[in-house]
Amino acid sequence: MKPPSFEYHRPAGLAEAVGVLADLGADGKVLAGGQSLVPLLNMRLAAPHALVDINRLGAELGGIRVDGDEVRVGALVRHSELLREGPHDALPLLRQATGHVAHETIRNRGTTVGSLVHADPAAEMPAVLVLCDGSMQLASTSGTRTVPAAEFFLGPLESALRPGELAVSATFRVPPGRTGSAWVEVSRRAGDYALCGLGLTVTLADDGSVAGARAAYISVASTPLLVDLTDVVAGAAPDAVDWAAAGEHAQARTEPEDDIHATAEYRRHLVGVLTARAGRAAREHARSRPSTPELALAQESKSQGTRDA
Ligand SMILES: Cc1cc2nc3c(=O)[nH]c(=O)nc-3n(C[C@H](O)[C@H](O)[C@H](O)COP(=O)(O)OP(=O)(O)OC[C@H]3O[C@@H](n4cnc5c(N)ncnc54)[C@H](O)[C@@H]3O)c2cc1C
Repeated sequence: MKPPSFEYHRPAGLAEAVGVLADLGADGKVLAGGQSLVPLLNMRLAAPHALVDINRLGAELGGIRVDGDEVRVGALVRHSELLREGPHDALPLLRQATGHVAHETIRNRGTTVGSLVHADPAAEMPAVLVLCDGSMQLASTSGTRTVPAAEFFLGPLESALRPGELAVSATFRVPPGRTGSAWVEVSRRAGDYALCGLGLTVTLADDGSVAGARAAYISVASTPLLVDLTDVVAGAAPDAVDWAAAGEHAQARTEPEDDIHATAEYRRHLVGVLTARAGRAAREHARSRPSTPELALAQESKSQGTRDA
């Protein structure tokens, strides 16, 4: 299948890119890794007048940086780079989730920020952004604005990005000390979009009891769904948490729909089972996590130094 014809722009810098996007308005679409956009073009499900290829903007849009308690991922960071480079100590959930994104060949081209803008309710990274209280940085000729994750995902394949804007980075917040995380999902074949999946964090208090837990689900709502499980788990000893009850709590807050891949009933069942599975895994992970974010960040700098050496 071939795409409809389109105008092709390949700006050499960020200022030029946002200028071109401003001129094009709703007629322009950014081309990043092309792993979602090109199939849509080929299937004629999208027919933009012009594509603005940002792949020459690596100097301005590349790189993963830890700034204070935030991890900033530039718009040209590929899934595979995030998986390889981390930051694995400061924010292990990034690696835990990215390993489930598509297949290696797709991860080599597809970008994390592209996946966020694409806003597929079955994609992993939007849920991670929501769970990490992250945000998106969006540039245009009027300047840069920051949109919190909770306001960015508006519906299936619909985000708060406006015509003329370029997403320059995504920022994920480093979790509190003693926070463990896990990503679990079920898909029909390895690498396929999940029928249901979730990221879950468990935070332990200084006395070792569970202080809180949160989960963000994919493929069970039109946007990533954040569920706070704290009321069900807080105060319990880690081994005494009733994870089945946490799963039921989450099930009561989801309204999945039937589609050709799975019934709503099966997806709701998965929410319960996978919440319990992720809860136990995140609890174990929490036991090995540093007691403060500062210690996690110090560990990260040490690991980065070893990787760079
Ligand atoms: C067979 C297959 C299986 C897949 N499985 C999964 C999966 O299991 N999980 C998953 O999460 N993803 C999956 N994907 C999608 C993949 O992760 C894509 O890489 C990702 O969704 C989009 O990233 P991209 O860089 O390729 O974006 P593109 O395809 O280039 O763009 C996607 C959309 O985002 C916009 N966009 C991209 N970057 C920017 C930017 N910086 N600023 C403004 N707009 C931008 C584009 O205009 C377009 O509308 C799969 C893809 C394929 C082909």
